[in-house]
Amino acid sequence: MSATKAYGAHSATSPLEALTIERRNPGPHDVQIEIRYCGVCHSDLHTVRNEWHNAVYPCVPGHEIVGIVTAVGNHVKKFKVGDKAGVGCLVDSCRECDNCKDGLEQFCAGGATFTYGAPDKVSGGHTHGGYSQSIVVDENFVVSIADNLPLDGAAPLLCAGITTYSPLRHWKVGKGTRVGVLGLGGLGHMGVKLAVAMGAEVTMLSHTASKEADAKRLGAHRFVLTSDEAQIKTVTGYFDFILDTVSATHDYNFYLALLRTNGVMVCVGAPPEPAHIPAFNLIFGRKTFAGSLIGGLPETQEMLDFCAQHNIVSDIELIRMDQINDAYERLLKSDVKYRFVIDMASI
Ligand code: NAP
Ligand code: ZN
Ligand code: ZN
Repeated sequence: MSATKAYGAHSATSPLEALTIERRNPGPHDVQIEIRYCGVCHSDLHTVRNEWHNAVYPCVPGHEIVGIVTAVGNHVKKFKVGDKAGVGCLVDSCRECDNCKDGLEQFCAGGATFTYGAPDKVSGGHTHGGYSQSIVVDENFVVSIADNLPLDGAAPLLCAGITTYSPLRHWKVGKGTRVGVLGLGGLGHMGVKLAVAMGAEVTMLSHTASKEADAKRLGAHRFVLTSDEAQIKTVTGYFDFILDTVSATHDYNFYLALLRTNGVMVCVGAPPEPAHIPAFNLIFGRKTFAGSLIGGLPETQEMLDFCAQHNIVSDIELIRMDQINDAYERLLKSDVKYRFVIDMASI
């Protein structure tokens, strides 16, 4: 075991602060990664503040991890010292259930091991995420990052990228699909870039008027301010597919009305409160209200390769580790352009 510098919280109400965690020594199948950058996902904030009622403390968040391989176990085949590597939301799973065999490790029947706050099958205790100097992960849960992708901008692909890529692919979004992306934050801005790259017609649905120019710069063909009744009227019954990335409680019924017949609204945003949706809002128009959780390992690698091919990375604001508490406050005000990424040299 080696003592490793990290940043985390001791309770739901305490700020994040410097602390020390133990990382295991790399086993035969493990890759040790010196973390260079870690993205800041709104899920980090939900978890640290125990909004989903499943947090364990101390809580060291971070699941948009990129860095350089510093050691490998003697059975490791895919990585060598010096390689760029990434770790997303998963660090282990049973590898035997149907979902694992299908590359859907996020739905592992035995319970996937999430990167932070999950029981750690190897070391005991619970897992600690990427707000730290280094991490040790089985090579099957480490992905490769192409040389043309800058490491800082690539970090958010590990969660925001795959979480938006996976439903766009699953519901076969492409040329001719009318897509609405709801919420222009970390997930939303990746959703816009990816849906545009897949050939869809993309509308940004935002409650922040000042984001219009950015939405268009990111590739959105159209911007609709959701609080403006006249603008909403122009897209009522319009979309084939809505990707809902909103982190706060909101009325799903309002957005279901924007779907055309057979339209699909996929919820990736995860506000803590339950939703109320009358059946009639789905029955009329044969609409689908669905959810999606990150993506499995094969699809995460596919997404990274797609991004390398299309030169897609996240628009980031690089912060020092000690700016994390301010960054959380800004996330709550929808004041993010469009992902905070921690420069781990500052830890
Ligand atoms: P984020 O960067 O904070 O973006 C959320 C966006 O939602 C904001 O920028 C804002 O966009 C919109 N929003 C916020 N409050 C709102 C309100 N009261 N009413 C309407 N819109 C509001 O968050 P993120 O990191 O993208 O994460 C978004 C959500 O997805 C979180 O709940 C997170 O936990 C969840 N998530 C889920 C998965 C999954 O696998 N399903 C993976 C990662 C994250 P506008 O200003 O444009 O309106
Ligand atoms: Zn995330
Ligand atoms: Zn499994």
